[in-house]
Amino acid sequence: MPIAAAVDPTLTRGQANTQPQYRPGESVAVSSLAGPSVKSHPWERMLAGRRPDISPLARDVPDDFYFVEFRTLTRLLDAFDAGDLWGTHLFNQAYREADTAGVGERLKRQLAIESDPRLRPFYDLVVEEVAVAGSDPFVREGSDVTLLFRVKQPEIFHARMDAFLSDAERAHADARRTTGQYLGVAYVQIENPERDVSVIAADPEPGLHLRSNSLAAFRRVVAAIKGKTEDGTVVRRLGDTAEFAYARTLMPRGDEREDGFIYLSDPFIRRLVGPELKLTERRRLVCYNHLRMIGHASLLFRTEHGRWPDSLEELARAGDAPGLFGEGALSCPDGGHYTLSADKTTGVCSRHGHALHLTPNVETPAAQVTGAEANEYHAFVEDYNRYWRFYFDPVAIRLKVSPEQYRVETIILPLIDNSVYTSLASALGGKPEALDSLPVPRRDIFSASFRLNKEKYLDDLGLVEKGAKPGEPAYVFGHPTDAAMNAKAADFVSRGLGNQVGFHLYDAHPTFDLNTASLLGWLFGSGVGHGARSLGGEEFYIALALTSLNSPVYLSFPVRDAKVVDDYLTQLDTVLSVAARNERRGRWLDFEYDFYKYQLPTGETARAFGLRLDPARLRFFWARVGSGLYVASKPFILEDLAGAAQGQPPSVAQGQPAGASQTQAANVDADATGHALVRVRAQNWNDVLPDYRLAWAENEREACLNNLAALSDAARALSARAAGQTGGQALSGEAFDRAVVELADRLHGTHHFCPEGGTYHVSPDGRTVSCSVHGTADAPRQPVGARCASCRI
Ligand SMILES: [Zn+2]
Ligand SMILES: [Zn+2]
Repeated sequence: MPIAAAVDPTLTRGQANTQPQYRPGESVAVSSLAGPSVKSHPWERMLAGRRPDISPLARDVPDDFYFVEFRTLTRLLDAFDAGDLWGTHLFNQAYREADTAGVGERLKRQLAIESDPRLRPFYDLVVEEVAVAGSDPFVREGSDVTLLFRVKQPEIFHARMDAFLSDAERAHADARRTTGQYLGVAYVQIENPERDVSVIAADPEPGLHLRSNSLAAFRRVVAAIKGKTEDGTVVRRLGDTAEFAYARTLMPRGDEREDGFIYLSDPFIRRLVGPELKLTERRRLVCYNHLRMIGHASLLFRTEHGRWPDSLEELARAGDAPGLFGEGALSCPDGGHYTLSADKTTGVCSRHGHALHLTPNVETPAAQVTGAEANEYHAFVEDYNRYWRFYFDPVAIRLKVSPEQYRVETIILPLIDNSVYTSLASALGGKPEALDSLPVPRRDIFSASFRLNKEKYLDDLGLVEKGAKPGEPAYVFGHPTDAAMNAKAADFVSRGLGNQVGFHLYDAHPTFDLNTASLLGWLFGSGVGHGARSLGGEEFYIALALTSLNSPVYLSFPVRDAKVVDDYLTQLDTVLSVAARNERRGRWLDFEYDFYKYQLPTGETARAFGLRLDPARLRFFWARVGSGLYVASKPFILEDLAGAAQGQPPSVAQGQPAGASQTQAANVDADATGHALVRVRAQNWNDVLPDYRLAWAENEREACLNNLAALSDAARALSARAAGQTGGQALSGEAFDRAVVELADRLHGTHHFCPEGGTYHVSPDGRTVSCSVHGTADAPRQPVGARCASCRI
């Protein structure tokens, strides 16, 4: 959150020492490096002896693993699917990319778990509870994932699950089955070299089934279940910690609003930024880039010579690689040995594995690093301690997954130290209230409501004191007012208004060609594990500001005392009239104020205030209507609001469509109680929808066409003939088209697809690829008028 960090007063406190600590060439033990020094909360004190219900599965995992528990496996699978769906489509929109890593599918294959919809009744019958845990979040590249099942009917469950294992073994000719034991727990392991199947299955206790894709992670979980490791070291279990119990006092287990619960503990976040994981992942990334480069060099070789290379040496000799991979700057930083994969589409590292399924970090912890790496980590810690201190809070998220609703709630745990969260908590403090209770016009498409800690603002504004000190002038739009006015202002805020503010977006034809669909993708896709491109908070605010420029907006304030509010508005009229009569020319900018009062068709008094800075003019309108005070960017919004308050249609103004004139009942909702609430009212998207749809479809086209370069590269390589080689291609037509997509997918480690359901075809000369819906990059096509296939809004 760069913006938030910018206002954090701790930033100005002292200069960090970022002098290098080590000589670049020296060898440094990772265990000698210290992580960020941010404190933990006093959990025991915060828990204050309470004993909330903790699931047995939380007591089966180490405290430095992330932990996700679901009431049913079906809900977990739904969440997986929804995650893939939303993740995929939002990325199409935000980054104009149409490829998917298919993380959920890949994991299910690795772990030999089938999720056919027909199996769901079976799962619901035999699985009582399920959890997912792991030591780091790099699931897309390759990470340890362990599933824990509490089973109701072990015999039925095992028959099925064992069958899945045998199926996976049969499906991979190179898979190997081994058995072993750890801390007295017998396990079965099935793995192939590429690791697209990699599963360890065991039953450490009656009614508990484990499935992990990593032996190292499996051992950590078994040690947690048994309470100690092989050498007798006691293992701290997540479910036994005070912090987890504290989170469960805020989000109780078994709440009907909970299908799933995600918890990222303090030790997990410490591990994320700690030296071992940071340096291990850094080395793995360098290696990963080499493995991918090998794949691209190999493709180039195939295109030039009409056959795949035999070895890395041959690639280097042919000049298709920048040198010999595995030597000098092109070697694995963690000492791995590189070879060409069996299908020649990537490199394989003896330490970090295959590019499509990297060996999880938990299996390859870096023990010794160079002085240069240690210095880099040291600089990171210095930065972290300065800027990112608030990151050390655990994160708890509650999920509700149903076809109609995908609901995500999170809690921000209170911090002891001064930080962004405390300022947020104090801004939004006080007792939670039912938010968003004012009537809403039909054309309200998006709302964000906040419960403000008003008393805090009164202090900050100095209104309380100023109101009490007669004779001291204050300034409203540059004009001095008197103490009476200040008293009214203080009264207005403290007694007149309620504790809330709402921001609302209105349905309208967007004025600028601003891509709102892309902005929304940006807003909600930000930070969803897209690696280095994941967005921080800054873009969120920019996107929000741009959206408000683009569509009519209004602010709503619930009114507590109508008379106080009206008095203040009347008083303000005088001040504003004076301001409007006095021209502001001759100062640093030539601008004029404009102010007038008018009646809404329903009788309420409205005010308009304009700021003219020729040729631009910024206007806003306000009125108290019923129990709400509204400030709007367009006059017709006030009319709609007045109509909504009266429960009758407002007059149709300014050529707005008649559909806008219906009203909607006030929205009082027990679910809406809290400090902040965001609501997307998709049912009201009428005018914006054609524009959104077109923008959406345009983004889909761009995303689709962005795939064509990778696909044509693959097509050229596959259709290349060796010198003297004659005869037709081994594959042709659809089979060749499929082979091209498959090769591109393996080379890039993602799946390339047309989001509109088009299919990719290779031209007869094998040089270009086109989409059946969108054409080619040179001759793009955009289906016009048609509803886009992937729009789900
Ligand atoms: Zn490596
Ligand atoms: Zn397409």
